[in-house]
Amino acid sequence: MVKNTKYGNTDIDYTIQYAERKTLSIEVYPNLNVNVIAPLDASSEDIEQKILKRAAWIVKQKSYFESFLPRIPQREYVAGETHLYLGRRYVLKLRIAENESVKLKAGNIVISAPDLNPNKMKLLLGAWYYRHAERRFQIIMKDAFLRFNSQKLRFPEYELKRMKNRWGSCTPSGKIIINPEIIKAPSKCIEYVIIHELCHLVHPNHSKAFFQLLEEKMPDWEKWKMKLELMLA
Ligand SMILES: [Zn+2]
Repeated sequence: MVKNTKYGNTDIDYTIQYAERKTLSIEVYPNLNVNVIAPLDASSEDIEQKILKRAAWIVKQKSYFESFLPRIPQREYVAGETHLYLGRRYVLKLRIAENESVKLKAGNIVISAPDLNPNKMKLLLGAWYYRHAERRFQIIMKDAFLRFNSQKLRFPEYELKRMKNRWGSCTPSGKIIINPEIIKAPSKCIEYVIIHELCHLVHPNHSKAFFQLLEEKMPDWEKWKMKLELMLA
């Protein structure tokens, strides 16, 4: 059951799990769920008090995840507009042609089609991004996975899925989900998101141990996280 506590103007939703233990602990998961693990005899007032006491920390943890919100500006799919691919900006060129195609050519993304309707351009370019995302993520995933040799993970199932507010996520069963939109960011940023999610296969939360592992697998992760957030603004 989801409970709710107000902290100033902020609503904190959380679930409670009772366990044979002496102290109460709070976990914030990458999907923004807050879970309280409470001793069997804890009252709901005890729990609420603890939530309020740790509220600032909970909000901070949640905003850390929310900072992953992709902020890609709207596009109109008209000639001259710029579009990102692997961190570089390309100018859109539209050509009337018998056959449909999308090609990268000297700083341009050239879309050819019998008619240049913006909705059609959006579909063609979207499909092109998706195909490239599939290929690129596979290469980066295989490469990043090699760094996790000592963790003895099995190669994770992963899928591409457009998400409104996340670059990547990890399901409780260990499936990694990557937002194909991230193909617009530099390779290293994609690598960061994938390594971040691979670390979640070991630590499902953002604990100290999680960040230690992330630091070990990608010492300059913060630089790429920052770049990701800035470049798509
Ligand atoms: Zn995470």
